[in-house]
Amino acid sequence: MRDYKIVVLGAGGVGKSSLTVQFVQGVYIDSYDPTIEDSYRKQIEVDGRACDLEILDTAGVAQFTAMRELYIKSGKGFLLVYSVTDESSLQELLALRDQVLRIKDSDNVPMVLIGNKCDLIDERILNPQDGIKISENWGRVPFYETSAMHKTNVDESFIDVVRQIMRNEVNE
Ligand code: GDP
Ligand code: MG
Repeated sequence: MRDYKIVVLGAGGVGKSSLTVQFVQGVYIDSYDPTIEDSYRKQIEVDGRACDLEILDTAGVAQFTAMRELYIKSGKGFLLVYSVTDESSLQELLALRDQVLRIKDSDNVPMVLIGNKCDLIDERILNPQDGIKISENWGRVPFYETSAMHKTNVDESFIDVVRQIMRNEVNE
């Protein structure tokens, strides 16, 4: 079975833990300790291949950059998450992606861009167009609007990044 290490990155409060737990356990829990960084395992089959996923739900504490370097180095695929209710969370991703590309020393790193909390219609500040624009600037990185609460596009996002990792392996 293949081992895939996936890292969930983004500003605090955007829903990294909610998305991870919704994907791994199929439940939505309303509050996680925002400081807890944890890793989860899940076995799935993608396009007929069994994959053993190890998902690191980061806590994005800026001062632990040495640790961040370590897990970015070992990560195979990345979910870059912002919240559609928080403009600055999208801005934060620009620096995070630069950091990922620099540490991986590649511009072909499996990743998806995620605008979470799309169920919060009244609190939405960012439109799908805002995410699409960034994804195009990033060379058409796949972009999803998600709701961890309603399980919208959650599996799709994780499976997309797994497919990208598989594709890279074929080219290796
Ligand atoms: P993290 O700091 O990125 O891990 O964010 P959390 O997963 O802890 O979520 C922060 C807050 O946003 C929590 O109160 C969650 O319940 C809430 N939240 C996360 N995802 C969603 C979502 O898709 N929709 C809504 N309405 N709230 C969400
Ligand atoms: Mg969290």
